[in-house]
Amino acid sequence: MRISTLSVGDELICGETTDTNAGTIATMLVEHGMRVQRHMTVGDSEPDIIEALLELARNSDAIIVTGGLGPTADDLTARAAARATGRRLVLNDHARAHVRDMSARLASLLVCPLNDKQAMIPTKTTLIPNPTGTACGFHLMNNGCFMFFLPGVPSEMRLMLRSSVITFLADRITPKRVIRSLLLNVFGPCEAEVDELLTGIARPELGLRLGICVTFPWMRITLRAEADSEDAVEALLQPAAQAVRERLQGYIYATGEDGIDDVVAELLQGSGRTLALAESCTGGMIAQRITSIPGSSRYFLEGAVTYSNEAKIRQLGVPVALLEEKGAVSSDVASAMAKGIRQVAGSDLGLAVTGIAGPDGGVEGKPVGTVFISLAAPDGCWTKRFLFSGSREEIRILTAWTALDWLRRYLLMK
Ligand code: AMP
Ligand code: MG
Repeated sequence: MRISTLSVGDELICGETTDTNAGTIATMLVEHGMRVQRHMTVGDSEPDIIEALLELARNSDAIIVTGGLGPTADDLTARAAARATGRRLVLNDHARAHVRDMSARLASLLVCPLNDKQAMIPTKTTLIPNPTGTACGFHLMNNGCFMFFLPGVPSEMRLMLRSSVITFLADRITPKRVIRSLLLNVFGPCEAEVDELLTGIARPELGLRLGICVTFPWMRITLRAEADSEDAVEALLQPAAQAVRERLQGYIYATGEDGIDDVVAELLQGSGRTLALAESCTGGMIAQRITSIPGSSRYFLEGAVTYSNEAKIRQLGVPVALLEEKGAVSSDVASAMAKGIRQVAGSDLGLAVTGIAGPDGGVEGKPVGTVFISLAAPDGCWTKRFLFSGSREEIRILTAWTALDWLRRYLLMK
């Protein structure tokens, strides 16, 4: 079934309001084995709504329209629906009763004049009940295309979509389709690298699609399979997921909705090891992430934000001579920080970062973005130099993520 969506509202095309309805509808359809083929947005203009309906109807078996069913003068969807489908707009008794009943119920919260405008519905339509608002939805069939009209208020729209539209459509798809997605979260390589590594895995002709979505500083790989049974979907999805894992190896840090913080938390908890942090350029960002996970007190002992040389000397025992000779942003100082915090805190692991986040402070041989990360553990101390690019905030975020990813990799090896 070819399904299109149409969002109506000046606030949507002006960018004042983000169109969340389109996403809600698409997600819910996918969960029920259907997919949106096309999506359109138009403003509160009757000719534009009519034109959009006619254009979408040419290539759709169903159109789901949201917005423009309110009581105000700029709500024009019902009239446009009538014009586009050659129907009359008439006062619908059921809709009028609903508007009056709902207005009375909502009056204590929201004083709104009784308005019959919302009861004006095209002829030859079926009403879609709205349990929480005044605007009735409706659906009609025009030249073989089902058209559904729902209010724009996201909470009302969602309820009506679930209770009426989805079941109506799902009952009519033959043969039944199943769509399943697998999300793999990746940190490290750039988008082009990932794209190249994953060449040939997608097989759209078999119903297997692959998408890469970058959300700084990580990216999400979505594998989506569509077939006529759960088994057939799994037979597409599992080998593809295996292939993605093999090609990206350690870059995949989590699946589904899990973030890097969740994964590190789980590994630390499972390892029984304790952690302490010494942060310079990240100013506590890593500690903030570690402690955002409930239960982190079981493995996180302390974090020191040692920004000045004096703090590195006093709190971590970094030797004055080392700071003078190598500078605060150096491999030796990073190692001394990691070992220092490990000893002071009495933790199993000490993780330290020191770097130049910019925009000033770069020197010859150590440009802005130069960062040293060090991990001190019972079995050794590892320190590595990185060169990140971007704004000050981006460099700080990349530093925090890289440090967490390092910790993740160390804990996985153990
Ligand atoms: P309407 O049904 O056009 O009167 O819209 C009622 C409310 O829902 C307004 O506050 C709109 O900004 C909001 N709204 C309408 N369409 C959408 C949409 N596609 N996504 C999110 N909010 C919307
Ligand atoms: Mg509107």
